[in-house]
Amino acid sequence: MNVKEMKAQLLSLADTFKEKEEELTDLDRAIGDGDHGVNMERGFSHLEGNIDDSDMASLFKTTGMTLMSKIGGASGPLYGFSFVKMASVVKDEIDNDNLKELLKTFADAIAQRGKVELNEKTMYDVVERANEALQKDEKLNLEKLQSYADDTKDMVATKGRASYFKEDSKGYIDPGAQSMVYILNALMGDES
Ligand code: ADP
Ligand code: MG
Repeated sequence: MNVKEMKAQLLSLADTFKEKEEELTDLDRAIGDGDHGVNMERGFSHLEGNIDDSDMASLFKTTGMTLMSKIGGASGPLYGFSFVKMASVVKDEIDNDNLKELLKTFADAIAQRGKVELNEKTMYDVVERANEALQKDEKLNLEKLQSYADDTKDMVATKGRASYFKEDSKGYIDPGAQSMVYILNALMGDES
């Protein structure tokens, strides 16, 4: 994928999050404070006009900085930091090898920033399992990504606001896991 194509993918997430705002808000209302849909919609709708598409590294860096300042909540710094980190490994033409590097960097960034491990019912469960699948050359698509988010349903949250719900956090998909599905799906482009 080249810079122009990636820019289009990132900008298309503004529409995706507009469409999914209610879904994410409902999930966050169940085990959080109900702002995740609005947070994601606000962050991605600000990309237009604020991103530098002169090369792929600049595109990722300015996307990260915009998300960091506009999403807010716990997820803003997590997503923002990850895009800035990915800017240091991304190539101007993303091939399968570079996509592997990107996902590894994305997952490591969330782990580092969120101090999170697998099965704590967060966005990390989706990005890390997608990373592991890709490194094993397993096929990744929207369905597979969604299955990783669905698996957070049975987990008890031990990080973030949802952890206040303890056992009651069971039975709901984690909102950040769900938003991660859409972000990864966009990053993979035609690969997914
Ligand atoms: P807030 O929790 O501040 O209201 P959001 O609702 O925007 O922020 O985002 C909540 C999501 O952030 C959660 O569903 C979870 O996936 C993710 N999250 C929260 N804390 C962490 C953490 N320490 N590590 C990884 N992800 C986290
Ligand atoms: Mg919230």
